[in-house]
Amino acid sequence: MRYDSVIDTIGGTPLVALDRICGDRISAKVYGKVEAFNPGQSAKDRAAKYMIEQAERKGRIQPGATIIEATSGNTGYSIAMIAAVKGYKCILTLTDKAGPEKVALLKALGAKIVLCPKDAAPESPESYYSRAEELAGTIPNSIYLRQNWNLDNSGAHYHSTGPEIWNDTDGKVTHYVCCAGTGGSLSGTARYLKEKNPDVTIVGVDAYGSVLKKYWQTGVFDTDEIFSWKVEGLGKTIIPDNMAFDLIDEFIKVGDRAAALRVRELARREGLLLGYSSGAALEAVFAMRKQLTKDDVVVVLFPDHGSRYLGKVYNEEWMQEQGYLTSTGEPASYSVKH
Ligand code: PMP
Repeated sequence: MRYDSVIDTIGGTPLVALDRICGDRISAKVYGKVEAFNPGQSAKDRAAKYMIEQAERKGRIQPGATIIEATSGNTGYSIAMIAAVKGYKCILTLTDKAGPEKVALLKALGAKIVLCPKDAAPESPESYYSRAEELAGTIPNSIYLRQNWNLDNSGAHYHSTGPEIWNDTDGKVTHYVCCAGTGGSLSGTARYLKEKNPDVTIVGVDAYGSVLKKYWQTGVFDTDEIFSWKVEGLGKTIIPDNMAFDLIDEFIKVGDRAAALRVRELARREGLLLGYSSGAALEAVFAMRKQLTKDDVVVVLFPDHGSRYLGKVYNEEWMQEQGYLTSTGEPASYSVKH
């Protein structure tokens, strides 16, 4: 295959059967959509590409522009990669929850990084959102992509992830399970699949400490729900416009420990070295396994690659420090809900 640039290699990621990890424990056929196959190793390549291309089409970006974004890391990598090809400058504001590997990767692609405190309230001037806003207001010929509110984020998945899943399952998909962050990969894909077949069940995955599930249940933005959690990219402490709550049939919260143990098992049983939120997504499938039958075809989106988490979930000491593993490497005992 020959391409004009790395940008043209985005999308077309494989569905991989998870028979070894799910087989005897889940009666449905379960496939992982492995977004690590994108050149930037995450689903965010799709959103970044579409948001930038739409900004170009709408005349919002001139040659030599500066692209600014508030990001947990993956969107930043994708923007930096695309900016490099297109000759744009790139400034990224990150929370200090992002691991050092992520920061190094972004710098390697030429991005400028601004680290912001992870516990700053979104509206405070120190938050990574406020800093991005401030930079966009002061730098001429710049654009803040605003992935949480820019509907071209979910549009990317409506136009690519959704059709890929529909075609690769020959229209047989019955459940789509996806982490909710900005909501782009959940909502855009869900919209396409529901248009094709309104009976497809859409399952959102959320973090304990995030406001999303409660908002979906009650319509209330409840700040009492908020506390810090560890899975990067999963959950939110704001309500992004890209979250299409009306498309979600079920919302499952997954804890840091369960997600960590599950993603490690995924590596060992399927040979898929994936990011922390992929463990959360698969854990949600296990949480709903009693409602699945042998005729169901479940597609679970795996957002990114595991190489960026070697210092965390794939590090034994880190796992022991969190109390997730014993000193002999066994899962530490705790009562599981399912
Ligand atoms: N997992 C990871 C690792 C991510 O980087 C993101 C994006 N922030 C998500 C899950 C959530 O994806 P989305 O923003 O499309 O909801």
